[in-house]
Amino acid sequence: MSVPDSPKILILGGTAEAAAIAEISFLRWGEGVLVITSLAGRTIAPSAIAGELRVGGFGGAAGMVNYLRKEEISAVVDATHPFATRISENARLACEATEVPLLVFDRPAWQRKDGDQWHMMESASRAAEALPEYGQRIFLTTGRGEISAFTSCTNIWFLVRLVDMPLEPLPLENAHVIAARGPFTVEAELALMERHKIDVLVCKASGGEMTRAKLVAARELGCPVLMISRPELSEGDRVSSVDAAVTRLSEILT
Ligand code: NAP
Repeated sequence: MSVPDSPKILILGGTAEAAAIAEISFLRWGEGVLVITSLAGRTIAPSAIAGELRVGGFGGAAGMVNYLRKEEISAVVDATHPFATRISENARLACEATEVPLLVFDRPAWQRKDGDQWHMMESASRAAEALPEYGQRIFLTTGRGEISAFTSCTNIWFLVRLVDMPLEPLPLENAHVIAARGPFTVEAELALMERHKIDVLVCKASGGEMTRAKLVAARELGCPVLMISRPELSEGDRVSSVDAAVTRLSEILT
């Protein structure tokens, strides 16, 4: 419930940071601002989110233009995952067309430390090609969208971690699937990787704290990491912390 004519903000979510921005905004403004979080609808049971929730695609940039106009949105926060490039581009185009201010959340990248054996890969397919050089027992945490890139990997065993158990078998010859969502602890990641005798970690350069523990575990185990490089961030007014996002929103709304 919101006060009539109160400003509306649309948070494009699907990340822990989007949920945190929604929560802090909701606590800060209460009914004075309507906070709407949008999810693609990929996760079966998303975590609770403060404010209103809408689920499902908008129908491309044109669909988002219609939505922004119909709902009279005052500002958009693109707090989607750094690899979710289509929705970010649609948000950029839709905000440009409607002149709705767009705030882009720039999730801090992971920083390499002594002992890390990171090998940056330009794509999941490139990581799949390179895999045999590095090991045979792979912890694959790239998410569902990239798994098909590894279909041609033979003589390789995968431990695949997804948010939800897949409804169909994965297109991998030799894989064990587990479903879990972060945050993960270093102790748990170490135990998991040791139990499954993992010799290579494959992940995206997602950044942020939720899934960083696996990199610490890989370092401690002396395990190489094939890391898929981040795409370019969408253009816009950038913030790189949840607090900075809410502060900037406050400036935009006043
Ligand atoms: P994507 O390729 O950028 O988007 C594909 C389509 O899904 C978009 O064109 C849009 O459909 C719809 N969509 C995506 N995010 C949406 C949102 N927040 N609200 C409403 N519709 C959305 O995205 P993706 O990589 O498939 O990721 C989907 C969602 O999962 C994102 O919200 C992202 O934050 C989250 N996520 C992604 C990853 C990842 O590695 N890619 C990891 C963790 C979480 P329409 O064109 O019909 O509007």
